[in-house]
Amino acid sequence: MNALLIYPEWPDTYWSFKHALPFEGKRSAYPPLGLLTVAPLLPRHWKKRLVDTNIRQLTDADLRWADVALLSGMLVHKQDLIRILARCRARGLRTVIGGPVASSVEELPRYADHVVIGEAEDLMAELAADLERGTAKPVYKASQLPGLDRTPLPDLSLINPRYYSAMAIQYSRGCPFNCEFCDIIEIYGRRPRTKSPTQVLAELDQLYDRRWRGSVFIVDDNFIGNKRKVKELLPAVADWNRRHGRPFNFFTEASLNLADDTELLSMMKDACFTRVFLGIETPVEASLKEAQKMQNTRRSLVESVRRIQSYGLEVMAGFIVGFDNDPEDVFDRQVEFITESTIPLAMVGLLLALPGTQLYRRLLKEGRIIHESRGDNMDLHLNFIPRMNPQRLVEGYRSILQRIYQPEAYYERVLRFLERYKPHYHRRRSASDYLALARSILRQGVLGEARSSYWKFFIQAATRYRHAFDTAITLAVMGHHFQTLTRMLCSAPLPEPVSS
Ligand code: SF4
Repeated sequence: MNALLIYPEWPDTYWSFKHALPFEGKRSAYPPLGLLTVAPLLPRHWKKRLVDTNIRQLTDADLRWADVALLSGMLVHKQDLIRILARCRARGLRTVIGGPVASSVEELPRYADHVVIGEAEDLMAELAADLERGTAKPVYKASQLPGLDRTPLPDLSLINPRYYSAMAIQYSRGCPFNCEFCDIIEIYGRRPRTKSPTQVLAELDQLYDRRWRGSVFIVDDNFIGNKRKVKELLPAVADWNRRHGRPFNFFTEASLNLADDTELLSMMKDACFTRVFLGIETPVEASLKEAQKMQNTRRSLVESVRRIQSYGLEVMAGFIVGFDNDPEDVFDRQVEFITESTIPLAMVGLLLALPGTQLYRRLLKEGRIIHESRGDNMDLHLNFIPRMNPQRLVEGYRSILQRIYQPEAYYERVLRFLERYKPHYHRRRSASDYLALARSILRQGVLGEARSSYWKFFIQAATRYRHAFDTAITLAVMGHHFQTLTRMLCSAPLPEPVSS
């Protein structure tokens, strides 16, 4: 059996980093880890080919070669997945779809022959056997959440790492918190399941053997969901990294209570973590309580961010507007908070009522759901009726982005961050680092519209903050991505008003 694994194209969102990738000559931010993990669960005698459509086009020859196409993605990929499924079907190719999107979108059986709902570890052997016999069922649904001790090593032979900005590994699934808008806990549960240190080190070995050097994204939605376990892992990772000459730096996502645990922060520093994404959401305490984000309440959010930054971790953070308790001045308060806490990369989005979440269920009961969400938090088409006037909400949202990514304000925020930032990890520069520097100078310093702000920033970075010059250039390039998205969003027509 020839199995064609297909990953859809990222739409233009924060996490795609599409406008930053060309600076370093990369085609995608991260490889499709889900499909790389599913591949070894398929029978050994099957031939496997992976097409990541962010790297290259899916060709008719690929489709002719295949006996079955296996697709995976997230809700945000839905449109492209449906398009690819239609193309496969038009050629009579059998299709299977799985991944988080299969848990969120009920109508997938209309587009695919077989839908895999839940985690693949328990399902792939049965599905593969049924496919071989020609008796495969329309839907395969996992009856439980599998232990990650059963998760195989991702099959890296299916990709060429050099097209990606970072490699990816997964340590845990699930999160112990209970945020109302979150679909992670609905899909992966509230009891974090983890891999053993031995499994993680085997993945690092594999990346090292494939000659990967540089950034590794630990894709967990909350890396510190089980602090006791993660404290067992981190010394092993630090030791591995030291023994191998520190080839990797890590970044991940974590809950804000990371700030309360200085032992954990020291361990992350020691293991060469350089960036962490935090779901801060809002400085408005009433909105945090409404969102059941209790771990962010009863604390100084600015102090928490500063403490994490003081361990050499750059904080990137998610923010949301659109909560019922958001006051009229929420937009100013978000801008003030982002500025004061010197978070360079702030991913500000509109609240989404994602399918299957507690928020969705509440709003449905209240008769406030308008349509299904596309999973893109920059989508100006609200999928629920907010308490605030919707037009005011969308305009206020755009005003946040305009203010925080206005070039002067952005560079100023990065410089204030660099003032306090003491990087603990210095990687030998690679060809793509030099390429990014050269392209940044050309595109932002010579051809860019904000040339004078760029050069003011560049000169300060090269003189006062030489110790963090590489971080400064990375942030200049990442800033370009966020500024481009902001420009696109702010010039898009406002959607038709919905009644409030
Ligand atoms: S902390 Fe993050 S992953 Fe955990 S429930 Fe809240 S939003 Fe979801």
